Amino acid sequence: MPRVLNQRIDGMPRNGVYVGRPSRWGSPFVIGRDGDRAEVIRKYEEYLRSRQDLMAQLQELRGKDLVCWCAPLPCHADVLLRLANEGDAMGDSTMTHAGGNTGEDQTQKHEALRTAALSCTACPLATTRQQVVFSRGDPQARLWIVGEGPGADEDSQGAPFIGRAGQLLDKILEAAGIAQDEIFITNTVLCRPPGNRVPTNDEITTCAIHRDALLDLWRPPLVVLLGATAARTFLGGNKLADLRGQKIERDGRVYFATFHPAFLLRDPRQKPLAWKDWQTIRDELRVLSGGDTPPGGAPVEEHDHAAGYNHSVVERLMPYIEQTVGTPKGTGRLVQVFHDRCGVVLDHNPAKVAYFSPGDVTELVQERQAG
Ligand code: SF4
Repeated sequence: MPRVLNQRIDGMPRNGVYVGRPSRWGSPFVIGRDGDRAEVIRKYEEYLRSRQDLMAQLQELRGKDLVCWCAPLPCHADVLLRLANEGDAMGDSTMTHAGGNTGEDQTQKHEALRTAALSCTACPLATTRQQVVFSRGDPQARLWIVGEGPGADEDSQGAPFIGRAGQLLDKILEAAGIAQDEIFITNTVLCRPPGNRVPTNDEITTCAIHRDALLDLWRPPLVVLLGATAARTFLGGNKLADLRGQKIERDGRVYFATFHPAFLLRDPRQKPLAWKDWQTIRDELRVLSGGDTPPGGAPVEEHDHAAGYNHSVVERLMPYIEQTVGTPKGTGRLVQVFHDRCGVVLDHNPAKVAYFSPGDVTELVQERQAG
């Protein structure tokens, strides 16, 4: 039976689909601002039924666990679950996956886009490039990184971010704990501007035929924009300083603008700020990717909506906490450390547990036991 899970508590199961914010399933309605919970849930269902595009995509949720942050409260994910299975029960043949895509279709479409781009001559950069630099990484990754345009190394070897700037980017990713198979990298324009000049507005606009098609095909939830050109292309404005360091939600995804690694090579004094950005990006990615396995690796039980939180996880964790810190006062310190380290809110009383990462509990307990 498909379930509604809390991302922080239950993690991200293999067959789970993230339906919280930011995702295209995120509810535009907020409890309090748009009414009480029942009213907000009613409005959300009405909204979904009026969105033909979303209704057409419900099929992809069938048989999957839906994961979001707002569980354990009965939430919009319950509405999605119901509508998806309602369509299933009716054998609704009008429901199709986004653009009619299955995983296989998407890969085929991706290949078709790549093949088309590799012979593109739509803008003047085609006359000066050695080759089109399409991408590297896994397009199914939740984190997409978009730079400005290929440089000389990339132009000669056909892959983005493989020169000095790319090596710095790889080091930053490694330090932040982001693996190469968790990312997809491309550029605002796919061909090298001569002398590494900034691409013109016309070139950027023309190359949107490839850029936008890729984004529409894979719908990554988190896009990091490296440097002013990428930030301006996706978010408007002129200055990176106005956009840097902020999470910007638009088009159902989160954008995060930060320094281009080529700029950091020229001005290393900005590295601490860049590091701060990448820690935020890493945290956002971890949230999108779900939590760690709970201590003991026990399977996650079905979420208990009626009780308001997942008893089983809390009950498994409390002995660890009590055994380690012993007293409520000690628990208070543990709560503080949690809060400082991962923004988690944890209370000695399981009824007040909000969100926490079981992986962090394990790590902290082991740290204390070792100390
Ligand atoms: S930069 Fe983009 S639009 Fe211009 S030729 Fe290359 S692939 Fe085509």
